[in-house]
Amino acid sequence: MPGTVLIVDGLATNRIVLKVKLSAAYFHVEQAGSAAEALTRVAHDRPQAVLVTDGLPDSSACDLVRDIHALPGCDRLPVLVLTAKRAPGARLALLKCGACDVLLKPYSEKVLLARLRALSRQAPVEVDLDLTSGAAHALGLAEAQAGFAPRGLVAALHRGTATDQALCHRLAQEMRHRLETFRMDRARQLSGLTAPPDVLLVSLPADAGEAALVRLAELCSAPRTRQSRVLALLDTADDVLAVKLLDMGIHDFATRDADPREIALRIDALLRAKQADDLQRARLRTGLNAAVTDPLTGLYNRRYALAQMARLIETARESKQTFALMVADLDHFKKVNDTYGHAAGDHVLTRVAGALRDALRPGDSLARIGGEEFLVLMPQSGIAAARAMAKHLCRTVRETAIAIPGVEAPLSLTVSIGATVANPAVKDSDLEPERLLADADHALYAAKSGGRDTVTISHLSAA
Ligand code: GH3
Ligand code: MG
Ligand code: MG
Repeated sequence: MPGTVLIVDGLATNRIVLKVKLSAAYFHVEQAGSAAEALTRVAHDRPQAVLVTDGLPDSSACDLVRDIHALPGCDRLPVLVLTAKRAPGARLALLKCGACDVLLKPYSEKVLLARLRALSRQAPVEVDLDLTSGAAHALGLAEAQAGFAPRGLVAALHRGTATDQALCHRLAQEMRHRLETFRMDRARQLSGLTAPPDVLLVSLPADAGEAALVRLAELCSAPRTRQSRVLALLDTADDVLAVKLLDMGIHDFATRDADPREIALRIDALLRAKQADDLQRARLRTGLNAAVTDPLTGLYNRRYALAQMARLIETARESKQTFALMVADLDHFKKVNDTYGHAAGDHVLTRVAGALRDALRPGDSLARIGGEEFLVLMPQSGIAAARAMAKHLCRTVRETAIAIPGVEAPLSLTVSIGATVANPAVKDSDLEPERLLADADHALYAAKSGGRDTVTISHLSAA
């Protein structure tokens, strides 16, 4: 359930105390007393984050983090570990296992809550848009990210101190990503980067006052860095500042004296999350395009054409300007299929689509709304423009020679066109997409009866 936090702790009293605190902060809480129960709950409840305390009866925290991430669709589920282990390396080992953060007991509740708030704001695209089931699955939008993450770009904004420079140097060695460094007071130089940085590493001054925070907020919203994940480096552990930063929208923080390997791991985790979101956005764009495109010709499909017509009607009503639409239907197209086969027919459709597209004015649009039927929309146009364009399209198709493999002479087809003009002055019911389409279809029928390779303008628009 979105908004649910799963608490995994072997001790019932610990779970209850934590549950009371999280519930008071408006989180919905589920509990598990063992790793086995946790895995069942994760699969069943689909929590937004998991809080694991080490010392479970049946697993180490590290193994549980790995097992959770191995569940189908859970590779990006944030798992926070609460631990009492102070041994150097314990924290690093947990981050390496995939924990998104490790809080040392006794931890600050305020930081824990701020971290959970940040995680829920920064939920992965597929969780945020609920792309994990149904049609999204069928379209491949819910698939897990491929295992290999490409090398990313990290921009470090430092204060010019020897400590910062030494850290940047170490990070460049630890990470496989490209690291570009800039002095904080020259953050404008970020615009010179070849691409927006995937991760911004921002070293805050010891006394990070209002001015430093405003600068950070500006970076988080600037066009160049808006999509970047931000990791803030603090001078010392400062819970109040950490809460402020997380609530401001930064993605992670660490202290400057942290093991550089830990900082590199955190950068890597941010980068992978950013790349997964980028990939998901690209898939969405592709999916959206596919939903409105005819796969054979690459033209818009009927669904898009009707929606676009509805938008044109709105604009026409507001501006009191007419627009023209026409339906073009290939003449005797069935004969092409019957004589040369379906593949040749497909080839002809693609060529005709291209010829029509090239013949239109910029701003006009073309869709394939049926087998061999095309719709042309001409914004801000009247009868004269529609008639001239329709004749031009007839001539264009007539003069397009289409070579068919294995056939000696190129084919030449003709098209018949029915056109109408949408006039905002007419009554509302006449200005509906389906009504206008029927009107143009009617005119097309007349063009076919009139001998084909010809244009008819609807008598309604001519009136
Ligand atoms: P008319 O001049 O009266 O329009 O005659 P026509 O032959 O063009 O029209 P009809 O409606 O009789 O036939 C249209 C044909 O278009 C029939 C159908 O098999 C074919 N068709 C529809 N979609 C496709 C397609 O995607 N590819 C191919 N190759 N043929 C298609
Ligand atoms: Mg036809
Ligand atoms: Mg037809």
